[in-house]
Amino acid sequence: MDTTTQNFDVIVVGGGIIGCNVAHALCERGQKVAVIEAASLCSGTSANSFSWINGTSKVNSEAYHRLNASGLHAYHELARRFGEQRIGLYRCGTLEWSSPGEHSQLADLRHKAERLKAWDYPVAWVTQAELSAMEPHVVFREGAEGLFALADPWLDVPVFVSFLAERIRELGGQVWDDTPVEELLVDDDGTVTGVRIANGEVTAPQVVLATGPNTPDVLTELTGYEGFRARFPMIRSPGLLVTTPPVTDRALITHILYDADTHVHLRPGSSGGLLLGSDETDGLIDEDSGVDAIRSAATRLLEMTQQMLTSFSGAALLDECSFRIGIRAVPADGDSIVGPLPSAEGLFVVCTHSGVTMGPAIGDLTAQALLSGQVPEPIVPFGLERFQF
Ligand SMILES: Cc1cc2nc3c(=O)[nH]c(=O)nc-3n(C[C@H](O)[C@H](O)[C@H](O)COP(=O)(O)OP(=O)(O)OC[C@H]3O[C@@H](n4cnc5c(N)ncnc54)[C@H](O)[C@@H]3O)c2cc1C
Repeated sequence: MDTTTQNFDVIVVGGGIIGCNVAHALCERGQKVAVIEAASLCSGTSANSFSWINGTSKVNSEAYHRLNASGLHAYHELARRFGEQRIGLYRCGTLEWSSPGEHSQLADLRHKAERLKAWDYPVAWVTQAELSAMEPHVVFREGAEGLFALADPWLDVPVFVSFLAERIRELGGQVWDDTPVEELLVDDDGTVTGVRIANGEVTAPQVVLATGPNTPDVLTELTGYEGFRARFPMIRSPGLLVTTPPVTDRALITHILYDADTHVHLRPGSSGGLLLGSDETDGLIDEDSGVDAIRSAATRLLEMTQQMLTSFSGAALLDECSFRIGIRAVPADGDSIVGPLPSAEGLFVVCTHSGVTMGPAIGDLTAQALLSGQVPEPIVPFGLERFQF
């Protein structure tokens, strides 16, 4: 590609779900956009996600919940326009439950359901009999009750990102993979004017950094300012995902399931198996875990799942499972980072957990911010200026 003559309205660095949503929203508004991805599209955290689209698990802050809920609405709107299959959306609903006993989370779960209802999020309280009727193969402990979040879907993220890339190109945008951004171009006033890649410069009055968990390193490398690496307010939090082979009819599930007492979560996978994760087994691995540590954590996860689904073969499936460790980018207060980099004109940063849920909403709001020069109200609380760093 000849980049020496290329100018754009906006350059998006990073071709994960966030970068592609931002670019898509800008292209839909007639902007000339380039997405520049260092490796392959959807090869970072977006490739290693549980991909549950929800506001159900976000109840600490109303602003953060609403940003997640607007992501859910945005998917339903995309499904209406393009069809669920084309965007990789699977509507199924979530069941989250707890039961009386030592580790009971029932009181918190009731409180959560009340809060979600007060915020008009679609949830219903369900009894043990109703839980069993909806998921006949799951063993619910005595006295289990919980919530049914009927609108929550899950997403086949690679399918969705491919869809976005296709749309970006259809709308006149460019998507370049295998193209690491090496440096930010900055003029004498400190305004970002573009990026340098291996074969030249690409210019634009606005650059969006959507580089996921690598954001502190990327900012350091692109600006040469070492302070970003040490102080950018984000932690990397690894998570283990186990994909099972296709399960028997007696272990089939139809909803996204979350046992609030054990923190095991599972959902149907795209090829007849199950996708499993849990907070406990996330604590048993780290980014550098070797095969033995991963297999040991996966064994524990398969055993915990077998306690929920007795017809599931549990650890006996270990050798037929595939394992992934994904790295969550978690801003220091757990919320999102969406906004201009203070003191760097022309540079907008998006770095967040739950980016699968919020991707289309954040894409839309970022496009509004870049075009109007005003940060839209729903993302005002998520600016970088809330941190001292
Ligand atoms: C185990 C796990 C479970 C999760 N479950 C959920 C869930 O159920 N629901 C939910 O909503 N979210 C979930 N998430 C979070 C969600 O997956 C992420 O928030 C989302 O994928 C982040 O997308 P991103 O585009 O910001 O980052 P990424 O997908 O990491 O994309 C960033 C891209 O930037 C590129 N890049 C980096 N440096 C450069 C450079 N110099 N030049 C060019 N490109 C560069 C990288 O190659 C990468 O492709 C989960 C995450 C994990 C790890």
